[in-house]
Amino acid sequence: MNTDRDIFAVVLGEMQDAGLPHIGCRCPNCSSGRVGYAACLAVVDTRGANTNVTLIDATPDIKHQLELLADYLRPHGERPYRFNPPDAIFLTHAHLGHIGGLPQFGPEAMAVSGLPVYASAELAALLQETRLWSPMVANLDIRPFTPHQSIPLAPNLTITPIPVPHRDELQVGTFAFKLQGPQQTLLYLPDIDDWQAWPEAKSVLAGVDTAVVDASFYSLDELNGRPPVAHPLIMDTLAFFADWPGQLVLTHFNHTNPVLVKGSEAETAVSQTGTQLAYPGKLIPL
Ligand SMILES: [Zn+2]
Ligand SMILES: [Zn+2]
Ligand SMILES: [Zn+2]
Repeated sequence: MNTDRDIFAVVLGEMQDAGLPHIGCRCPNCSSGRVGYAACLAVVDTRGANTNVTLIDATPDIKHQLELLADYLRPHGERPYRFNPPDAIFLTHAHLGHIGGLPQFGPEAMAVSGLPVYASAELAALLQETRLWSPMVANLDIRPFTPHQSIPLAPNLTITPIPVPHRDELQVGTFAFKLQGPQQTLLYLPDIDDWQAWPEAKSVLAGVDTAVVDASFYSLDELNGRPPVAHPLIMDTLAFFADWPGQLVLTHFNHTNPVLVKGSEAETAVSQTGTQLAYPGKLIPL
């Protein structure tokens, strides 16, 4: 019998790629003194003799995010004070907040060897072929995944990459991950350009109980007249998911997003719909 805490996803960061504060910004959120890490999710399976930890994305804040997992990561065999890296990492795409932490596993930092890192075939090849990146990832076990093909993480626990439309300068794709556990199915989708540009949305969501999705911007007011960036606005997301029966959780907040302020008009409006906001430490049973 599984308890809620046997297998779970846990939020390790809820901000857009650049985190909070945003570099070079003194907006009210950035000067509030609050620190927020880039969007990241861990999957923790404590059922076996050894706890299994999978990370989705390697963010620029990864060293702090691994600290949050210290109780679940195995101690290093030979070095006192050290713990091991997670058992695997899955990369959604090639933007700063999603791969920027990979060099922390390289020779200048944690110096791991053989850590499985799953990415699209195109991103896997690019990481290994780019002269700047290749020495930093040389000791990682980079494994290309196939879209829509499930990969087992543990008994009764699989992860499936699902392509989604998102600005793709390098032609390496962007992926959401569907996590299927014994209790429920979770979709983790931190970046998408536009719900309407994703024809598969309805069929993918039909098999999902909880969706943790891109909520970078609340409204165009945040952009001070600059052209809209490639992320849906929260109100459009709420409208798109209005008839969906699952639990919606918002993440990947831009530093300008008013929902970051608890009790603000925006945060209240979102919470009143039953939608949840991601925060570090939020557990979602799988
Ligand atoms: Zn992002
Ligand atoms: Zn700011
Ligand atoms: Zn992105």
